[in-house]
Amino acid sequence: MSKLAATQAVHLPPAEIRRLQTGLLAWYQQQQRQLPWRESRDFYPVWVSEVMLQQTQVQTVVPYFLRFMKAFPTLEDLAGADPQDLLRNWAGLGYYSRARNLQKAARILVRERGGQFPGSYREALRLPGIGRYTAAAILSIAFDQPLAALDGNVVRVLSRLFCLRGDPAKSPLQKVLADAGQQLLPARRPGDFNQALMELGATVCLPRNPRCLLCPWSSHCEALKSGMQERLPEKGKRSEMILSRQAAAVIRHRGRFLIRRRSGSRLLRDLWEFPGGEFGRSDIADSLVRQIQGELDLKVRLGPPLTTIKHAVTNRRITLTVYEARLKPPLPPTLSIPGARWIWLSQAGRYPLTAAASRVIQALTAEKSQRRVQPQSGGSQVGLPVPLKS
Ligand code: SF4
Repeated sequence: MSKLAATQAVHLPPAEIRRLQTGLLAWYQQQQRQLPWRESRDFYPVWVSEVMLQQTQVQTVVPYFLRFMKAFPTLEDLAGADPQDLLRNWAGLGYYSRARNLQKAARILVRERGGQFPGSYREALRLPGIGRYTAAAILSIAFDQPLAALDGNVVRVLSRLFCLRGDPAKSPLQKVLADAGQQLLPARRPGDFNQALMELGATVCLPRNPRCLLCPWSSHCEALKSGMQERLPEKGKRSEMILSRQAAAVIRHRGRFLIRRRSGSRLLRDLWEFPGGEFGRSDIADSLVRQIQGELDLKVRLGPPLTTIKHAVTNRRITLTVYEARLKPPLPPTLSIPGARWIWLSQAGRYPLTAAASRVIQALTAEKSQRRVQPQSGGSQVGLPVPLKS
């Protein structure tokens, strides 16, 4: 093999292809991780795992996968699930459209195909949430179809193996990579080969400090020969990070607090959160009080911040300040608010919460247990706010 430019196709002699295939499959046989979705070739667990693994690391996915399969053990269970129950079992994994699309596609398969997955790549692509990678992964792993599946890990390995320059997100290099992946794929065991390649990227050909000494392809790798392994794949320009300043209120009333369901076309639609919003440069506490009055028709008095949460959603770096709040008299004739619920702390687990709301619940739970441990103190603990009186 020789060093290639981005648009130059990869052509490998058959003997070289066989050596690469044999070396990788033998390595995979020895080194593959035991993962729950590898216990069966049934398309349903393969599909669920592939969708969960998009943008998410294996160790994060494992407990979610186990919980999800326990809640919805069959395609029919998923198709018939209550959407809130579905979101509750996905909450924390992020990218919730993945869960919604999974259910939409499950319903189509149950309704129109007797619960069977399409036998062709083209038909699989028609299902909601199934793109080229997912279709190829499911059809190769569950049905032994010879389709190369290129995820981020595979792209990294192939870019390095063939020393391919350029941005792999752009079409000239994308096509070169897809052709190279397809050339390497064996007619027998294509699903194992795809998984082996993904495994190599996830455990050996790491983004930083690739473990080339342990790599079954080290004697073939062009990037290693040229000392380029750390510099490939080349990255395109990343989208700029946006800083977002947000505030939310834990409005307490008679031991319960208020959560509301995100509605409309908002990101994280149908998940539950504490009332609040994004406030730019304005006085965040004043703006929060005004927003709660405008949106929920409730007058509140804020206490000191309960906690500050830093997290990220897509390209937004969010700093969320969470305040304790109490209702200010006079109370409205009814505290029932459309799309919102007054709940006890112990009921929070019944709702699919945003990741930020889950962290607030953790803070409230920790605060409650600290109060239990030191009941005689009668005041605030270190780092916790003085509780407001209703
Ligand atoms: S030799 Fe190193 S850079 Fe090349 S494929 Fe293997 S781990 Fe990746």
